[in-house]
Amino acid sequence: MIVTIDGPAASGKGTVARALAARLGFAYLDTGAMYRAVALAALRRGAACDDGPAVEAVLPDVHVEMPPDRVLLNGEDVTEAVRAPAVSRGASQVAAVPAVRAFLVPQQRRIGLERDTVSEGRDQGTVVFPDAPVKFFVTADVRVRAERRCQELRARGVDTTPERELAELVERDRRDSGRADGPLRRPPDAVVVDTSGRTAGEVVDELEAVVRGLVGR
Ligand code: C5P
Repeated sequence: MIVTIDGPAASGKGTVARALAARLGFAYLDTGAMYRAVALAALRRGAACDDGPAVEAVLPDVHVEMPPDRVLLNGEDVTEAVRAPAVSRGASQVAAVPAVRAFLVPQQRRIGLERDTVSEGRDQGTVVFPDAPVKFFVTADVRVRAERRCQELRARGVDTTPERELAELVERDRRDSGRADGPLRRPPDAVVVDTSGRTAGEVVDELEAVVRGLVGR
């Protein structure tokens, strides 16, 4: 069984998706990490992430694996490296390249169908698993998201401000929602969850109750 969780950057969806998967005994698939791995591969090759043909040329040499809580690029553990701000920006650029989506979407379907999975991203309920029996759209006020992202980056030693993160998020939201292929959209049959002013625990309680109520698990 697949549970999809889509939503904008820094909405808290990653945290709650991971926790929900643990509570249900499901695998957790972070599809954003796959786009990040492609961006990292492109950057390492010196390709600009907004140069579609250059990014496409890198794909034959990209092998992404998603063992639990890790992301591997050609066998190398890049779990930390893909969280760098330049990779975040690059990921939303490579995600607008149709060849990149055509490369990753079948891999996501294959991974998701191997076992019960909570799959998180931007297009999981709309494009990748349109028949999933439970879908969530997790969101939060953009200022709350900027504040959270700022704290998360500072905790990792990155020097930033809420204002800078707000500008980054507005730009990333615009790119993620505006692209023609796999844009960020709320699936019409999704349960919408606003995490502003709520703890992760409260949100996960709600998601778990919805899943158990809908499918009796
Ligand atoms: O979720 P995360 O911020 O790690 O995703 C990084 C980028 O990857 C997003 O900004 C988005 O552009 C892209 N993405 C996507 N489709 C997904 C997951 C992520 O386009 N299913």
